[in-house]
Amino acid sequence: MSKKITIIGSGLGGLSTALRFASIGCKVDIIEKNSTAGGRLNQLKVDDFTFDTGPSFMSMTYELDELFKSTNITNPLKLIELEPLYTVFFENNSKPYRIFKNLFKLQEEFPEEKDLPKKLERFLLRAGSFFHDTEQPVIKSNFDSLFNYILQMAKVPKRHLPYLFKTMWQEVDKNFTDEKVKIVLSLVAFFLGSTPFQTPAIYSLLNYTEMKYNGYWAVEGGMYQVVIELVKILESMGVKFHYNTEIVEYENNGGNLRFIDQNGNKWDSDIFIVNSEAPWFRGKVMNRGKYSERKLDKYHWTLAPFTIYLGVKGKVDNLDYHNYFLGSNFKGYADKIFTSSIIPQKPYYYVNVLSKYVKNAAPDNHENIFILCPVPDLRYKSNWNDRDEIANNIIEDLSGRVGFNLKSNTVVREIFTPIEWQDKFNLYKGSGLGLAHDIMQVGALRPKNKDEEFDNLYYVGASTTPGTGLPMVVISSKLVFDRIIKEGKI
Ligand SMILES: Cc1cc2nc3c(=O)[nH]c(=O)nc-3n(C[C@H](O)[C@H](O)[C@H](O)COP(=O)(O)OP(=O)(O)OC[C@H]3O[C@@H](n4cnc5c(N)ncnc54)[C@H](O)[C@@H]3O)c2cc1C
Repeated sequence: MSKKITIIGSGLGGLSTALRFASIGCKVDIIEKNSTAGGRLNQLKVDDFTFDTGPSFMSMTYELDELFKSTNITNPLKLIELEPLYTVFFENNSKPYRIFKNLFKLQEEFPEEKDLPKKLERFLLRAGSFFHDTEQPVIKSNFDSLFNYILQMAKVPKRHLPYLFKTMWQEVDKNFTDEKVKIVLSLVAFFLGSTPFQTPAIYSLLNYTEMKYNGYWAVEGGMYQVVIELVKILESMGVKFHYNTEIVEYENNGGNLRFIDQNGNKWDSDIFIVNSEAPWFRGKVMNRGKYSERKLDKYHWTLAPFTIYLGVKGKVDNLDYHNYFLGSNFKGYADKIFTSSIIPQKPYYYVNVLSKYVKNAAPDNHENIFILCPVPDLRYKSNWNDRDEIANNIIEDLSGRVGFNLKSNTVVREIFTPIEWQDKFNLYKGSGLGLAHDIMQVGALRPKNKDEEFDNLYYVGASTTPGTGLPMVVISSKLVFDRIIKEGKI
């Protein structure tokens, strides 16, 4: 008889796991607290405007290929490679800097950095060798114990050791002279929800994956197309979705685990896989002391998002599809944003314009603009009554920098503060990417994908192994699948 798998949460981690199990004949149910699937990879429709709520590009897309290939399903998604990868706007500098993968074109953008292609090739070679030496033994491995993890780490060539003791900023500072080049290359730390002054140099491997190995990709139709296609496939395979259902408690029925939703319904299953934030679920639903609020507060969490969804009349020609707007005090800003309860007057932010490449995302002669500003999480700033003031400040800054009056042309405006991000998707204190990737929070030191107490309870997603971001949660689904198969549970 086929085994019943129940997945709690329909983020990309949950959906990918469902696909792997459904493809080997398991009966799969997905319980989701919201009325739509996708988690952070979601969609917001306001009037005639359609926004991707969170992710706006994907890297390491071969992980998505692996998911479809290993489940014998033709990949229905059409991906669009980005070149330039993105555009960076520095303060008090009207020139937008386009960040090309083509290093000769990149040199033209930054003439002040002499021999940029040569220096960058060397920098990327080193980052690439670290990536390939750790991808299989560390990123793509399940660890049964700390000892097992240390053994695997010992296999990583010793020449990479200095990477562990340096920050990302120190690494770029050593290799480049132009301040702008250093800033651009260290921006990837923000993609990890941290800053280059805290992120270890090992994450230069992201420079390698973005600039050399795989690049950045958009999805034809918008990022939410990934979810639409996966749900379609899963439903055709008989996977059942139970929306508007939140798991709030559990019961230990003589050693048998049973979950209880907000309406008091009880859920039994051969195997449960939790796609909700692994550490918070353990604390809030499983009542584990090790994951109490006091203990969770001590972890290093990634920055919280403050997101604005703007539908505007007219075309904003000076915006590209991915844009970064930076201020003038990079280090000072980065040091403060984590822990300050006040949003700086001159915030740094990211802007994505879906209507630049998805035709019907906005009505004709309109644009839909997504603004993401990293802000402190709810531990440091719990009151967001100043949300409109913060949004107005960002919109005014952006208007001035792109020469387009966004305020007077706004047709639609929605704001998610860290409170909405926390409440919609159960993200701890509104932290957008979940647990950060410090050396002490990766590998066997990250909350495990196997429960400490129940033998049929597992975890998948951004805050378990290997880490956060779309490709990482697809890898996470492979790790939990491999573990369950290896344990002979299916
Ligand atoms: C603003 C923003 C921008 C981002 N941009 C990018 C990007 O450009 N590229 C990229 O690669 N990554 C990006 N990320 C990161 C990426 O979105 C996440 O790493 C990834 O989507 C996490 O997927 P997941 O499956 O782990 O979890 P989630 O997407 O959080 O899914 C978990 C699901 O579980 C549900 N759930 C939670 N608790 C319960 C419960 N008790 N009962 C029932 N259901 C429950 C939630 O509602 C949710 O649907 C971004 C994140 C944010 C917030």
